[in-house]
Amino acid sequence: MISGAELRLSELVKRYGGASAVDRINLDVASGEFLTLLGPSGSGKTTTLSMIAGFTEPSAGRVVCDGQEITSVPPHKRGLGMVFQNYSLFPHLTVRENVEFPLRQRGVAKAKRSEQALQALELVELRERANAKPGQLSGGQQQRVALARALVFEPRLLLMDEPFGALDRALRERLQIELRRLHKELGITVVFVTHDQEEALTLSDRIAVFNEGRIEQVGTPAELYERPETLFVARFIGESNSLQGQVTEERFQSEGGVSIPAPGAVDGPSVAIIRPERLRVLNTRVEAEECALHGRVRDVTFLGAQLRIEIDTPDGIMIVRTGTENPAPQSGDAVQLSWLPGAAAIFPHRKDARETSSSWTETLAPSTSSSQS
Ligand code: ADP
Ligand code: MG
Repeated sequence: MISGAELRLSELVKRYGGASAVDRINLDVASGEFLTLLGPSGSGKTTTLSMIAGFTEPSAGRVVCDGQEITSVPPHKRGLGMVFQNYSLFPHLTVRENVEFPLRQRGVAKAKRSEQALQALELVELRERANAKPGQLSGGQQQRVALARALVFEPRLLLMDEPFGALDRALRERLQIELRRLHKELGITVVFVTHDQEEALTLSDRIAVFNEGRIEQVGTPAELYERPETLFVARFIGESNSLQGQVTEERFQSEGGVSIPAPGAVDGPSVAIIRPERLRVLNTRVEAEECALHGRVRDVTFLGAQLRIEIDTPDGIMIVRTGTENPAPQSGDAVQLSWLPGAAAIFPHRKDARETSSSWTETLAPSTSSSQS
């Protein structure tokens, strides 16, 4: 087992012209942790990773690794492993020679190089393809070679920027499982970048959610899902329903006419977020509860053990996820949606740039966003 590096970013800034690509980021990564930088395109993830790697010079702030400041240390002296979206293997070299390359740069003797390269290929289960050329391998296999090459000199910190972004879904899921196994086995610290929230939830010990060059929240997948601190995080992590409305005297009133208790909420334009699995579908004969919304079933999808139901309401389309034990409603049925008062999280709807409608569309369809790029 490697003892993974400890990383600290403090007040890290990168400006291009007048604009801040990364704006005063603070982040601690523990030894052996798998931490993911998650956010939409352009939110500053790659820039941050590149400052950790040493390819991009920060405008301000510090990068500290195991207590040593490395802000101005050149990349090749940082001893990091790196994997990017395009595998960048040398096409004319064999798989084994590609993996040996970083060892050759470090002046490791030939016999030792070959042995270590084969061990690294063993880790990614590609030892038997050592003599193939990259062009003879599938995309997923090439990415595993890139991973072996990043791991061959036993770095204590591995940086990965959308490494599975170019692969199809099934392959991506297989490599995610493999990467989790490797991370557990090796004890290495990993900083992983993705725009795909499902991938982040699957892989990470903790996730830092990026928005416009800042970190909105850092937490475990469960913390981010169950206790989002901002509207942006609530919308970006997991599927959610949003009701637009207004808070007055600790009650939220939606545009469609639902009233929800909002203890502690500040008066003003607000958004209520409800997770699809916290909604119940009732028929209209049941006596309406306090938190209830009337609507009409638009679509019902069977997802194995679950149903996903879309309902047209005065507050827009609401998504419900529920078990299949009850008789399923049919398209066109008039229904009520109900939920427990604590199931709705109320956020102020700030009119500043950080919560504009662009983050809205990006996060409303988490399942499609993961199949992009
Ligand atoms: P992400 O990886 O989250 O998609 P990036 O870190 O690549 O985001 O980019 C963050 C912002 O910084 C974007 O607005 C991008 O256009 C800008 N940016 C990144 N690199 C450069 C550069 N070399 N010159 C100018 N602007 C840049
Ligand atoms: Mg990027």
